[in-house]
Amino acid sequence: MAAEKPLIKEIISQKAEGQEVTVLGWVRTKRDTKNLTFVQVNDGSCFASIQVTFDKDANPSNEIETNLKKITTGTSVSVRGKLVPSPASGQAVEVQGLSLEILGDAPADSYPLQKKNHSFEFLRTVAHLRVRTNTFGAVARMRSQMSFAIHTFFQERGFQYVHTPLITASDCEGAGEMFRVTTMNPQKIAEEAYEAGKAGKTLPEGAAAAFADYNNDFFGKPANLTVSGQLEAETYALGVSRVYTFGPTFRAENSNTTRHLAEFWMIEPEMAFFRLEDNMDIAENFIKYLINWALEKCPEDMAFFDSRIHPGLIETLKKVSSSDFARVTYTEAMKELEKCADKFEFKPYWGCDLQSEHEKFLTEEVYKRPVILTDYPKEIKAFYMKMNNDGKTVRAMDVLVPGLGEIIGGSEREENLERLENRIKELGLEKDDYWWYLDLRRFGSVPHSGFGLGFERLLLYVTGMTNIRDVIPYPRAPKLADF
Ligand code: ATP
Ligand code: MN
Repeated sequence: MAAEKPLIKEIISQKAEGQEVTVLGWVRTKRDTKNLTFVQVNDGSCFASIQVTFDKDANPSNEIETNLKKITTGTSVSVRGKLVPSPASGQAVEVQGLSLEILGDAPADSYPLQKKNHSFEFLRTVAHLRVRTNTFGAVARMRSQMSFAIHTFFQERGFQYVHTPLITASDCEGAGEMFRVTTMNPQKIAEEAYEAGKAGKTLPEGAAAAFADYNNDFFGKPANLTVSGQLEAETYALGVSRVYTFGPTFRAENSNTTRHLAEFWMIEPEMAFFRLEDNMDIAENFIKYLINWALEKCPEDMAFFDSRIHPGLIETLKKVSSSDFARVTYTEAMKELEKCADKFEFKPYWGCDLQSEHEKFLTEEVYKRPVILTDYPKEIKAFYMKMNNDGKTVRAMDVLVPGLGEIIGGSEREENLERLENRIKELGLEKDDYWWYLDLRRFGSVPHSGFGLGFERLLLYVTGMTNIRDVIPYPRAPKLADF
C-alpha cells in the first residue's frame, strides 16, 4: 500500500533514477511555457510541493492535454510519471508526467482558496479548507509533532499517561468559568410552563421540578466540563509516582483575547516526591526539549515560520533553549516592577496579579530571557498550593516567556492535612466536598508537585503565530463554534 501510494514526502526523498511513481494530491499552481506545463502538487505530508512537468510535444495522449486545461488550484489529481533529477533550483527531483487523472475539480469561480495570500481572518471563516494552505498545513504538522514530543519526553522519564475525566460532578474544581453539562431541556420546560400559564394553570409539578432540580438530571447533581485534570492526576501520582495528562480542557471565560480559547488542550504532569525546585527543573527542561524537537524534527516548517510568519523566530528559540531561565521570587520581581511603576497602565503593588504588560517587562526588559516566578501571595493562588513558613506566600511557580507571557502555571502541593483543611476553611470552601482529595493527605501523604502547560500557548510560542485561534483546527471562543 505505502509502496504503491507513497506520500510526496517519501517521493521527494527518493533517489531519482527515472523510476515510475504515482503522485496523489491537490494542485497548488499550474504554469505554461511554450513546450512545457508545470504543475505543483501538494499532499500536506510535508511543506514542499512536487513539480510535475508535461511535455506538450511528447504527450502520449490527447487526454492529458484535455485534463491539463481543466486543472485549477485545488483540483485533486493522480499523476503517473518518471522521477528524475530536477534542473530547477530549490528542488532535487521532479516528475515527468506520463498520465494525468482528475479526481475532483475545484471550480475557479467558487473555490474559496483560488487566490493566494488570504488573510488569517478570512481563512478562519473557511476553517474546513484552510489546512490546504502553506501556513495551516505547517501548523497542523507542528501540532502533531509537538504532541509526539510531549509524549516522548514523559515516556522517556518513566511517567504514566493518565486519562482524567472530562465531565466532572465533583465540587472541588471551583465555581465560575465552567460549562454546565446537562440532559435537561430548558426550552421544553419553558414552553410547558408558558402553555400552563396561558391556560391559567399553575406550573405542572414535573416541569418546574425538572428545571430546578438537578436530582432529576443525568448525574443526579450539577455536572460540568473540566477546567483541569490536576486534582485527579494527583490521586494517580500518589500511586504510580509520575503521571501526566494531555487532553482537552474547557473554560467558559468570556475573554476575547488572542491567548484564550474556550476549549484548549492542556498537559499536566504531577510528580510524587518532587519539591518546587524539582518542579522548576523539569518545567525548564521540558520547554527546552520541545523547542529543540521543533528545530530538529521540523526544519522545513520552522524555516517557513521564521521567514514568513515571525522573522527571527529560530534565533530567539535557539537562544531560549541554551539559556538558563531566571528564577525569581514574586517579591523580588515586584521590586523591579515598582522601580518602573510609571511605565505601566496598571500600577504594580505587592499582592496584585501580574498583568501581561508586567510579564512582558520582566522577560523582555529586566531579565531578557524566560523567567520562573515563585512564592506568590497566597491570595492570588489556588487553595492547594503549599504554604511557606511566612504564612503569606505559597510555593507557586509560573514560567513566563518573552513575547508571550505565562506559558506554565504550577506549584508544590500542600501535603499536610491540617494546613490544607485550614486553607479550605479560610477560603470559605466546603471541607466535605474535598473528602477524596483530603484522603491523599490522610493516607500515605508525600511531597508532590506539578504544573499545567497550555498546548496552544506552546504552539504560539514555537510557531510565532500570534492568534491562538490559528493553532487549533476548530477554535471555540465566545460566539464561535461554527464548524
Ligand atoms: P491566564 O492568566 O493566561 O488566563 P491562568 O492563570 O488562567 O492563565 P492556569 O489556570 O494556570 O492559567 O492554566 C494553566 C495553563 O493553561 C496556563 O499557563 C496557560 O498555558 C493555559 N491556559 C489557561 N487558560 C487558557 C485558555 N483559556 N486558553 C488557552 N490556554 C489557556
Ligand atoms: Mn485564566
